[in-house]
Amino acid sequence: MSRQFDQEVEQRLIRYASVDSQSDASSSSSPSTEIQLDLLRLLEKELSDLGAADVQLTDYGVVLATIPGTAPGPVVGLLAHVDTAPQFNATGVKPRVLRGYNGGAITFPDNADLSLSPDEFPYLAEKIGHDIVTASGTTLLGADDKAGVAIIMTAARHLLTNPELQHPTIRLAFTPDEEIGRGVGPRLPKDLGADFAYTFDGGAVGEIEYESFSADGAEIVVRGVSIHPGWAKGKMVNAITLAAKIIAMLPQSTMAPEVTEGREGFIHPTGMTGGSTEMRISLILRDFEMEGLQQKGDMLRQICAAVQASEPRATITCTITPQYRNMRYWLEKDMTPVNLAYEASRKAGLEPVSVPIRGGTDGSRLTEMGVPTPNLFTGMQNIHGPLEWVSVQDMSRATEFCLHLVQAAVDPSD
Ligand SMILES: [Zn+2]
Repeated sequence: MSRQFDQEVEQRLIRYASVDSQSDASSSSSPSTEIQLDLLRLLEKELSDLGAADVQLTDYGVVLATIPGTAPGPVVGLLAHVDTAPQFNATGVKPRVLRGYNGGAITFPDNADLSLSPDEFPYLAEKIGHDIVTASGTTLLGADDKAGVAIIMTAARHLLTNPELQHPTIRLAFTPDEEIGRGVGPRLPKDLGADFAYTFDGGAVGEIEYESFSADGAEIVVRGVSIHPGWAKGKMVNAITLAAKIIAMLPQSTMAPEVTEGREGFIHPTGMTGGSTEMRISLILRDFEMEGLQQKGDMLRQICAAVQASEPRATITCTITPQYRNMRYWLEKDMTPVNLAYEASRKAGLEPVSVPIRGGTDGSRLTEMGVPTPNLFTGMQNIHGPLEWVSVQDMSRATEFCLHLVQAAVDPSD
């Protein structure tokens, strides 16, 4: 087991995880929360202190920096996001390290009901002897994606202090608001200036992900007819009743997140608000193929049309908006970044695994915008909740893998 980067990557994770940097989907500012700037400014300062070039915190909340190249080759981008998920308490994170994990269930100091058991989470059973980082029981840990930040910062420090190591120019980017789908703004691809890039935002050791969902969002608005209920007979059209019909007609037993896996897509209602006069239903549509995504949109429109036909006095609209696309559509035209990651994992003695991501990453948007960006492992597990954990030694291996990766990108023919 490698030890070279254990201490540094652990200390960095603990330092970054202790800074609250949760994002907020209901905010319209960029970054969505001021507190994300606390971590962004810390990283800006650390990069300056390390002697990185072109260190910059952009007005849209991304920290950019350059590690000047020592050898010819393409410009490689390395990205991680600083925000943590809004789904669970992220205030007052108290990271702690369990040295030399013994294989038993892990308990939490601030929540006696909580238990992290290798029976329930088999990946933990593979980590006997590792140093395991968790939160204290009342918050998430934020290894998603501060493990990625710690890995990239450790690799950057190593490259900057060992200029004899051969690598092309590297561009670093630490982004806000990934968890609310707003991590990649219109200026990032040009400001990053990379030929291709990698996000360190994946899970188990060896994961190299280059397929994500293709995603659309849908908003259904149902307008009824409002009348005093005392004399509503033959006149009232209740929007709630019609919205309930739409929900009941969704393919709940074949095409919902809770009944699909692998390469299957779904239609998922994420929210429903309103009253008898007007109802709004928000949905997300997911599929790995454009054809499948299109079919799901068509199905949703047909359901709305059928309910509309059953009650002509109502007004039902269905608006479908593109969100992100499967990065494979672009990557399969040029597999260079994926092939380099495979080569680096072999050199690092890892078994590469590529599983389609049932979600999207900052890389999905970046790839679509012209910067091919596969996603790489960090070791993080059980993200977005109080059982989140990561092995120090897994992060250390990801750091070594990152160093192999930038060395593999050197162009020997130049
Ligand atoms: Zn993440």
